[in-house]
Amino acid sequence: MAIDLSQPPEVQRLAECTRAFIRDRVIPLDDADDGDITAAGGDALRADLQREAREAGVFAPHAPVEYGGHGLGMSDRAPIFEEAGYSLFGPTALNIAAPDEGNVHMLAHIADPEQKEQFLAPLARGDVRSAFAMTEPAPGAGSDPSALTTRAVRAEGGWRINGHKWFITGADGAGFFIIMARTSGEPGDRGGATMFLAPADTPGVRVGRHIDTLDRSMLGGHCEVFFEDLLVPDSAVLGAVDRGFEYAQVRLGPARMTHVMRWLGAARRGHDVAVSRVAERRGFGSRLGDLGMIQQMIADNEIDIAATRALLTRACWELDRGEPAANATSIAKTYAAEAIFRIIDRSMQMCGGLGVSADLPLARLSREVRPFRIYDGPSEVHRWAIAKRAVSAAKRAQQGAE
Ligand SMILES: Cc1cc2nc3c(=O)[nH]c(=O)nc-3n(C[C@H](O)[C@H](O)[C@H](O)COP(=O)(O)OP(=O)(O)OC[C@H]3O[C@@H](n4cnc5c(N)ncnc54)[C@H](O)[C@@H]3O)c2cc1C
Repeated sequence: MAIDLSQPPEVQRLAECTRAFIRDRVIPLDDADDGDITAAGGDALRADLQREAREAGVFAPHAPVEYGGHGLGMSDRAPIFEEAGYSLFGPTALNIAAPDEGNVHMLAHIADPEQKEQFLAPLARGDVRSAFAMTEPAPGAGSDPSALTTRAVRAEGGWRINGHKWFITGADGAGFFIIMARTSGEPGDRGGATMFLAPADTPGVRVGRHIDTLDRSMLGGHCEVFFEDLLVPDSAVLGAVDRGFEYAQVRLGPARMTHVMRWLGAARRGHDVAVSRVAERRGFGSRLGDLGMIQQMIADNEIDIAATRALLTRACWELDRGEPAANATSIAKTYAAEAIFRIIDRSMQMCGGLGVSADLPLARLSREVRPFRIYDGPSEVHRWAIAKRAVSAAKRAQQGAE
């Protein structure tokens, strides 16, 4: 059967509208404040941009139609999210920034009708932001989620949660938290985690310091968060007790791919800026873009962009078929996170001194894309998982042959 990579006309139209909206309304603000969303106005800017995105018909491409979105699947999201990612503020404008976009996806799949009304509906509308609280300082959950130490114990009418999280994106100003806590077993056990929903103003939720990371384009910082005798009712359990790790996969596979989509847009902007520069800049009797070593960097960028898009397409295809796509998303995430950084790095090199200055967007793009090799699973952990699957398959094949 022939492979059809064409996009439905309505997706093409939405991608074109998104491209125009990002170019005309969002990039000028991104450039004016060097991609620092807090300096550019924070939540007030978010409200303005989201109102404009709604008027332009490009708001919430991912959210279910009944919650005001376009209800697009993973494959159809890809070109739209890539266009949004062309500006560092684009994802916020369309309400598809992390962690809200991943949280919308997870709530749409797992929340019960009351939870959808209380948490999903305002999040999809952009009325509130949210945070996903999983990572903990050592010896707690990080690359290895099974090290989870935050505990939820039975209390009258619900659960009492105690724990210390950090690097929680968007925590400052979030309307609610999705909290991963251990309800059975011990740190190191592969099961026993449960997800809880808690409004941010519940007594026992305390947001601490902003951890000063490289990036500046995500609202609400990457914060330390403390849950101190936080009491939540039974109705706060998201899905079923002890199935939290399983649900995390529902969120993480697609969330990794939507990160790839957005950062691919950022990489494409970096590449476009560099190619435009070397096509114009003269040196050594020609344009820089006519010199072989510059052309090699351009070609390598084109190859990295095309390969990232191809791996993304494959992973989205599997996800849209309802498959877990664990291997495909690990491969796409690892390749993309490294390729995107290479693309920006080469683009800076091609632009010389300007490349590392704030006159061009490349230096800030480099700052923004570097952490992607760490969150949503560091490259080493994905490589480990990919290799383990390959070796297990080889062992099974050998046993079958014996
Ligand atoms: C900008 C940013 C935003 C984030 N947002 C969130 C958020 O919203 N919510 C949340 O819960 N968390 C968030 N995180 C945390 C992120 O998920 C963790 O940083 C990540 O899972 C790695 O965990 P860790 O930092 O504890 O690193 P560690 O677990 O200490 O690992 C350190 C390094 O060890 C190596 N390593 C680990 N395991 C292996 C292995 N098996 N084989 C070989 N090498 C290995 C890797 O190189 C890894 O980078 C965010 C992090 C960043 C940087």
